[in-house]
Amino acid sequence: MANKNEKNAGNAPGLWYVDSTCIDCDMCRGTAPGIFERSAEIGLSIVVRQPVTPEEISGATEAMKDCPSDSIGNDAE
Ligand code: SF4
Repeated sequence: MANKNEKNAGNAPGLWYVDSTCIDCDMCRGTAPGIFERSAEIGLSIVVRQPVTPEEISGATEAMKDCPSDSIGNDAE
């Protein structure tokens, strides 16, 4: 489970985030492009825009379930 006290710098404000345990595997960026992107500053994924549409939320949820290091979090859960 992701740690809300270890959120990566640059996450867009909101429920969804990536924490510092991200191993930069690239999966979430392919599953939900435009929501997850690689931060050039820290070399790890961040949430660049909070998901809004059902499709975006579905993609973010899928990425959260499949993240190999459980680095994606949602403060609502
Ligand atoms: S799927 Fe998880 S480990 Fe892979 S880049 Fe995304 S947040 Fe990082």
